[in-house]
Amino acid sequence: MKISGVDVEFLKQKYNTPLYIYDEEHIIKNMNGYLNNFKSNKFNTEVLYASKAFCVKEMIRLVKQAGMSLDVVSLGELKTALAVDFDMSKVYFHGNNKSVEEITCALENNVGTIVVDNYMELVTLENLCQKFQKKCNILIRLNVGVEAHTHKFIVTAHVDSKFGVLYESIEYNNMMDLIRNSNYINFKGFHSHIGSQIFDLQAFSAALEKLINICKNFSQPLILNIGGGFGVKYVDEDKPIPFDVVSKTLIDECEKSLEKNNIQIEKLCIEPGRSIVAEAGYTLYTIGGIKKTPNKLYYFIDGGMTDNIRPALYQAKYNADIIGKEDMLKSQIVTVAGKCCESGDIIIENIPLPKAIKGDLLITHTTGAYGYSMSSNYNKALTPAVVFVNDGKDKLVCRRQTIDELLEREL
Ligand SMILES: *Cc1c(COP(=O)(O)O)cnc(C)c1O
Repeated sequence: MKISGVDVEFLKQKYNTPLYIYDEEHIIKNMNGYLNNFKSNKFNTEVLYASKAFCVKEMIRLVKQAGMSLDVVSLGELKTALAVDFDMSKVYFHGNNKSVEEITCALENNVGTIVVDNYMELVTLENLCQKFQKKCNILIRLNVGVEAHTHKFIVTAHVDSKFGVLYESIEYNNMMDLIRNSNYINFKGFHSHIGSQIFDLQAFSAALEKLINICKNFSQPLILNIGGGFGVKYVDEDKPIPFDVVSKTLIDECEKSLEKNNIQIEKLCIEPGRSIVAEAGYTLYTIGGIKKTPNKLYYFIDGGMTDNIRPALYQAKYNADIIGKEDMLKSQIVTVAGKCCESGDIIIENIPLPKAIKGDLLITHTTGAYGYSMSSNYNKALTPAVVFVNDGKDKLVCRRQTIDELLEREL
């Protein structure tokens, strides 16, 4: 099997397994899919990459080259953007519990917009703005109460969500009072993020409708950011909506709703993460053992929940192939299990695969989002290397962690 003209067996020889492989051209195509279609002549638009989905320097360089903006949620993600000289005016800083250190770093580096989650955070921000004599643009994260139809663990917009404030709640009103009296805080609009791996655009339309209704109460045109969460194809049952349709539908709905309500907005933003990188990513493993139990056939791989926590965390489904046997009869019903000391360390349950032998390579598809970024050192597993491939060339963008690096922090 080749990815963007590079043989994966060659990648195994060169970089060993487990290995994260990204098709660079595919990432670029995805970014342009949004950038070219999420446009309106009624208001400005902005597409942000939600960096938490996959955040390494080379990825953020691609985002920069594409001319996209960036969403960061931590000091680490912010520092990654700084490390590649990302234009800080195009950075949005999210998070429900930003530390003094994080906000200070954002202010010092003139981060374009801080998305404020709650009243206490706004107080901290106001104090730090005073201390450093800096002004700051903010969006307020609203909980618009729209629930997207996806796995309940990834839904964020129920009324008791840890994210955002409810419109006209006491907390919200306190925030607006503070803003009115502040010489530093420049309120620009609202943000909402209704969940992840969403296939139903009506969920976004509903959230957008709520935000637009709220805009009616403001005299200045606001910025609305309707978050990310667009679904991707992990397995055959998943039917994602193409980028151009997602983009055009959202723009269209927004234009119509603005016209109907006779108001204007300054800008509409979206912030896809998963749908930029998921399908461009693969994880390559070596099968080290095969075991039959009374009811199961296991293929043991040399990685597992340490490089892909999603199946254990929320029963995420994946597709896989055995390298060199892609066209062979899938005669076995297999459980693909990792090597961690945890019964839940299963990457795929009951997948039809060809007969394999020890040493075969197994590749899982659509692992580009929340794989590397959620990887852990459980059992002191080493974080795998990340390689980008493009048009027959391979490029190491993050080398494999070493045991020395793991141990050097321990005193
Ligand atoms: C996670 C997140 C995103 C991206 O979600 P995806 O499902 O990866 O597209 C965007 N905005 C916010 C605020 C998020 O928390």
